[in-house]
Amino acid sequence: MGSKHCCKVDRVRATHDILPPSRVDGDLDTYLVDRWTGEGEAEPAGVRTLTEWFNKQVLKTMYRNHGRSDSSVRIDSDYEALQGNGVPEHERAELLSELADDGIDGEAATKQFIGKSTMSRHLKECLDATKEIPDSETEWEADRIRIATNNYRSHLESALQSLGTKDRIRGVDEATLQTQAYLSCPECPTRVTVEQAYEQGYVCAEHHSETPRQDPTQQSD
Ligand SMILES: [Zn+2]
Ligand SMILES: [Zn+2]
Repeated sequence: MGSKHCCKVDRVRATHDILPPSRVDGDLDTYLVDRWTGEGEAEPAGVRTLTEWFNKQVLKTMYRNHGRSDSSVRIDSDYEALQGNGVPEHERAELLSELADDGIDGEAATKQFIGKSTMSRHLKECLDATKEIPDSETEWEADRIRIATNNYRSHLESALQSLGTKDRIRGVDEATLQTQAYLSCPECPTRVTVEQAYEQGYVCAEHHSETPRQDPTQQSD
């Protein structure tokens, strides 16, 4: 079968009908390039951020089609587990069987996920886009958050494992440890994961000061 798609990004996009957020005009490719280069956005996003965004959209579509809740908290933690990011194998297996109960093939889902290099190639080669500031200079914060979360998790895990061995917390071995960092709005009950806040650019849609984000390259006088 001849392919009418430039690469896996486009093939997966077509299969799952991945669309840009509704507030955005234009198609998915325009959205990806604009976010990557920082067109019309305060901060340019890195390939890693775009790859995760894309893969989470794939997961969301699958969940929606199978009537499984697609709240961003769930998508974030399920995605990390499916990718095996700092999540023990038994928790991943647990999630896979939970997904199977909802009629979702979790392993097949992960095969639909694209890698960073695929996204990078799609932007640079398929779409012929260029970016002046390298991703490494714009994405260190996301790396820092990930490393901090993984360290926190592994420290907690070893302490909990020991408590389990000493029988100080019964059932701790089978329990699921959730270690997501949240940001809460001081004005209302809104609570989002750090990842989601980074993705959407605010904590609470209702309550945030109106000052636009400062462009660090422009000093005010
Ligand atoms: Zn492509
Ligand atoms: Zn609020």
